[in-house]
Amino acid sequence: MSNDPRQWPISRRAALAGTLATGLGLSASPAIADDLASEHPSNPEAALKRLIQGNDRFVRDELRPQHVGKQWRARLTKQQHPYATVLSCSDSRVPTELVFDEGFGDLFVIRVAGNVIADDVMGSLSYAAEHLHTQLFVVMGHEGCGAVTAAIDSILGKSKQPEHIESLLKMITPGLKQADLSLPREKLISSAVEANVRWSMHHVAHCPEAGKAIDEKRALLVGAVYDLETGRVRLLK
Ligand SMILES: [Zn+2]
Repeated sequence: MSNDPRQWPISRRAALAGTLATGLGLSASPAIADDLASEHPSNPEAALKRLIQGNDRFVRDELRPQHVGKQWRARLTKQQHPYATVLSCSDSRVPTELVFDEGFGDLFVIRVAGNVIADDVMGSLSYAAEHLHTQLFVVMGHEGCGAVTAAIDSILGKSKQPEHIESLLKMITPGLKQADLSLPREKLISSAVEANVRWSMHHVAHCPEAGKAIDEKRALLVGAVYDLETGRVRLLK
């Protein structure tokens, strides 16, 4: 993807509407640009409710994603209005859209091992806030996360990883400073997963564009942990 946001393939319909309107001496009509937005929740609380309800259906094994058909996808070719940004782990057992029973154009998903905030993740968060105006920012970790487990093992001096994996772990370990290393291993990993979510949330809140949207109550920031056994997404208090 180009580094220049103006080259990014979104909202072309809105841009076209704006260009035409400017040429005609008119302001861009929101009715043209926003017809997809009306398909999604209208405020941050409703957005969170929709995610929770989707996960409930997933847990009950009653998936019925609405936004997957050909007609719906055709509406997405020139624009997108995802209602939530989800930063989650690359782990193959946590496919974000499925976990929330969502389809195309619903979620702006950033997946990276350990749901860490690398520089380019910050760029994606800024983009979601500034250009997509998503109403919800979710950091979702998961039980049994291999990246978090490796970070704990690194702190314990139990393992040495190749250079690029060590770089990844260095983004996790500062958030685990309070970890009680005397806990039984399973509890230790579980508490570290939660601490890692909170560490990433801390960075999301400090992303200027996302932070501004959250401060101005245009967006909500929530942390969550996905349970591999039950499929339940638990929101952090
Ligand atoms: Zn993971």
